[in-house]
Parts: sequence; structure tokens; C-alpha cells
Amino acid sequence: MNISQDTKLDFSDVLLTPAWSISASRSDVNMERVFNGFYHSDREWSGLPVMIANMDTTGTIEMWEHVSCCDAVVCFDKRKSFEYWEDLRTERLLKDAPAFVDSVVNTAWVSTGITEADLDNMRGLRDFCDKQPDGLIPNICVDVANGYSQYFVEKVEYIRTLFPNPIIMAGNVVTPEMVLKLIHAGADIVKVGIGPGSVCTTRLKTGVGYPQFSAVVECANAAHGIKNPNNGRVGRICADGGCATTGDICKALGAGADFVMIGGMAAGTDQCNGKFNLHMLTGEKTFQFYGMSSYEAQDKYDSRKRQRTSEGKLVEIPQKGCVDNVMQDIVGGIRSCCAYIGATSIKDIHRCANFVRVNNTHNKIFGG
Ligand code: 5GP
Repeated sequence: MNISQDTKLDFSDVLLTPAWSISASRSDVNMERVFNGFYHSDREWSGLPVMIANMDTTGTIEMWEHVSCCDAVVCFDKRKSFEYWEDLRTERLLKDAPAFVDSVVNTAWVSTGITEADLDNMRGLRDFCDKQPDGLIPNICVDVANGYSQYFVEKVEYIRTLFPNPIIMAGNVVTPEMVLKLIHAGADIVKVGIGPGSVCTTRLKTGVGYPQFSAVVECANAAHGIKNPNNGRVGRICADGGCATTGDICKALGAGADFVMIGGMAAGTDQCNGKFNLHMLTGEKTFQFYGMSSYEAQDKYDSRKRQRTSEGKLVEIPQKGCVDNVMQDIVGGIRSCCAYIGATSIKDIHRCANFVRVNNTHNKIFGG
């Protein structure tokens, strides 16, 4: 048994400190992040490094239609990924100009698990892509709740053999040695987060987890510290879960996240898939948002098993309207963060970030 004595931190334990700069104008901030290839993939990626979670409620094609307009990513729901990709290729892209194809590859990612059925699905996707005239293959998010198994590492290795060139993101883990293992196995981006999610109950049910801010700092250091000897490119991470506000996204970028994934912040928008309720008495409109390991999700996908508990919950949240408003708030918040800390681009947030540990992040007299 071992107890680490230094206290690990969450987003709510820190604030970014403002800093003087010559060019602190929010309108001048370059919001485009560009990666000229990844550890394995030669693909260039550019855009807003914010990803919508591949939950069945948020990882929808309608979400993609909106957030792709600001060059953000949607990781499609695992069970619908192939179908959505097929739809994009055969229906929507036929109507649009070739330039649109580039934007699709950057912004529409397919997700998969690692069961035999998932891998069959991925082989099917590969065949489908090969049959398209341009052979275009999407980027892939390999997603499991617990990335700490040799089986997972082997499946990431296998998926890399199926998709040698697309960008592959894999997770979730929270510790540096596992980040390195997954990158060596074939991941370009490692998804970081165990237990911070808005509808996650893993920490309550299992006692397992790692404060998300520290996980991001430590995993980013590990990923950025290894270079592929053949091309000189480093590993990347995506901070997944626990961002409740735009400020948390800024903190994650400051901590070293190359991408940030959000679920709850996008949940309840019109582009979600699921149950919206209208309450007759109050006129209030709500949305049922649930974790992908909740009993609700397990029942929906017939995966409830006797030895398995629920590690997610169902919440009824207010309907938020169009996701464009959420994205506008995120883009505006990041811009303003850059102006405060003296960063001229989103890429520079990490370099310019100085954090202070706090006991209180904001005034709660009127709620929030
Ligand atoms: P949020 O942005 O809502 O805080 O976190 C979203 C992330 O929570 C997802 O990307 C996923 O990694 C995680 N997540 C989604 N559903 C569940 C669940 O039922 N249990 C757990 N442990 N994590 C979940």
C-alpha cells in the first residue's frame, strides 16, 4: 500500500493569474490550433481543439452539423458511428464542394469500443472507406471506461493496424505510464479522465479516480515528453470530463491539454439525441442526460449484468437551446482568457499559464 502525500488538484482548486502583455486584445487571438502530424499519423489537424463527447446523447450528427461550423470536433456515439459516417459520405458530401471533405475529416470522428462486435464494425468501416472513390478514412476514438488493461492496449495496437494513417485517440487513463504505453501501442492522442464526468459515479461506486487538473498536468507532461524517433513528433492528450464551465476548459488548456472533451456542457441542447420533457405546470423544458455506464444506458443497450454496477447517473437538466450558443460562449471565454494571460493564440495558453491554488474560485452569493 502506498499513499501519495502531495494533494492532487481539480479545476476548482486553481485559477489562472492575469499577466501584462503588449497585445492583449481578445479579437486578435488566433483560435486555430494546428498540428502538423501526430506521433503516428501523418495527418495535419487544424481547428478549435474542443471535442463533443461520444455519448449517445451528445455524439450526434446534428451536433456535428453545428459545432463543425466553428471547426470543433464531434466524436460520434459508438453505436451510430459507422451509420453517421456512411450518411456523411454517401448523402451529405455528394452535395458539397471538395473543401468540405477536409473539414469533415477534421471534425467528424468515429468512436469504437473493443469488443469483438466493435472490431467487426471497424473492419466493416474500413471496407466501406476503401470502396469510396477517394478512400477517405475518418479519425478514430477508441473509448473504454477503464484503459488499464493489457487487452485494451492490444486492441489499440490492432486498431492501428486497421487504420495506419488516421489520427487515433484512445482512453481513458489518468497516469503517465499508461499514457506512454498507449502511445507506444498506436495512439496519437490519449484521453485522460477517470471519474470527473458530470454524470459519472465511478468515484462513488469504486473509490477510484484522480483529480482531473493534476491528471491533465501529469499526463500532458508525459505525452509531450516523448518523441517518435522517426518523425520527431510528440504524443498528445485530450482532457475528458469535469469541465463545468468555459473557465474549466481554459484551465485544462493551461494545464497542457491539446484537446478538451465536453459532455455535460453540450447536454440539453437542441442537437442532442434523447428525451426532452415539457412540464405542464411550470412550462419548463428539460432533457434527460445520463452516463454511458448508468443503468439507463445499460438497459437501453441491453448490457446490464449481474456482476456489474452502474457507474453513471441520470439527471434531468434544463433545455439549453441551440448548441451554437454554448460554442459561442466557449470561443468567447477562451479568447478572453488569452487576453487576460497574455496569450496571442490558443496554442500559447499552456506556455502563458500561471496558476494559483485557491480555496474559493468565485462568488456564490447569487448561486452558481
Ligand atoms: P462531462 O463533460 O460531462 O463532465 O464528462 C464527459 C465524460 O464523462 C465523457 O466523455 C466520458 O468520458 C465520461 N462519462 C460519460 N458517461 C459516463 C458514465 O456513465 N460513467 C463514467 N465513469 N464516466 C462517464
